Amino acid sequence: MAVILDGKAFAARLRARVAEAVAGMAGQGVTPGLAVVLVGTDPASEVYVRSKGRATREAGMQSFEHRLPADTPASELMALVARLNADPAVHGILVQLPLPAHLDAAAVIAAIDPAKDVDGFHISNVGLLATGQKALVPCTPLGCLMLLRGHHGSLAGAEAVVLGRSNIVGKPMAQLLLGADCTVTIAHSKSRDLAGICRRADILVAAVGRPQMVPGDWVQPGATVIDVGINRVTDAQGAGRLVGDVDFASAEAVAGAITPVPGGVGPMTIACLLANTVTAAARAHDLPEPERLGL
Ligand code: NDP
Repeated sequence: MAVILDGKAFAARLRARVAEAVAGMAGQGVTPGLAVVLVGTDPASEVYVRSKGRATREAGMQSFEHRLPADTPASELMALVARLNADPAVHGILVQLPLPAHLDAAAVIAAIDPAKDVDGFHISNVGLLATGQKALVPCTPLGCLMLLRGHHGSLAGAEAVVLGRSNIVGKPMAQLLLGADCTVTIAHSKSRDLAGICRRADILVAAVGRPQMVPGDWVQPGATVIDVGINRVTDAQGAGRLVGDVDFASAEAVAGAITPVPGGVGPMTIACLLANTVTAAARAHDLPEPERLGL
């Protein structure tokens, strides 16, 4: 049976370190501030924004929530981003995705000051990460790397397979694993022999958005499996539940370690958002970056 990588407990410890760092910064007259912008009323986004606001306040930081109607013109959203860029109390800006169809997410992300881009999606941060420089790193893959480092220590030389190549998860995950000296393969919907590719992995990260797509016989015995997927499914009795991209029951029987869904990667994402905001605030005020909050 695999070791269960308890993301909830790991995230609670990270959030405690964030709160300590925030308390330390108060002594220097700095309170990190995170602005979250929600356009429209997507129910999942509403839940995310509420929990981000709560977590921000619990860590002792300032939370600024901006809710705009679904038909907000692009010019108005851009004007808000410009105001947040200029506001010294705001150290992190997050525009909740997806945006309504009439708004161009890439243009909005490009308008965010890269130093405040706590989601790590701005092309400057993408480029800094790809070239191994100091960046703000996307929260979900950062959380995955922390879980892996927490379990293994060094990842040097490991065969890592990332299933999925999105800009939000797959690609930055691959960059982080490369930076941690893994031998990295990225697989996607056009890859041949996914089972064979996955079986090579010492570390398998699944980020495809397909419920329970990865069965246990794709997992090398003893491998570490990180399941990023969050999929809502309905069982035979009509009850809804969350499952990952990995078939947990069969994978757990062969893996050396595995993240559950829920309670694995999910809680790490918000904790890393808080950590990124503290990092951005420290950089903005030329304070030493608190240790053990990032890479
Ligand atoms: P995307 O839909 O943007 O990307 C999915 C990737 O998976 C694509 O690269 C796609 O390949 C690949 N893929 C899809 N189907 C297959 C298949 N049958 N075989 C092989 N590859 C496939 O999703 P995201 O990266 O945004 O998210 C992935 C999952 O992670 C989702 O379940 C999402 O809910 C979850 N998630 C969880 C977070 C958390 O906090 N835990 C945060 C963000 C996401 P191609 O490029 O060829 O189309």
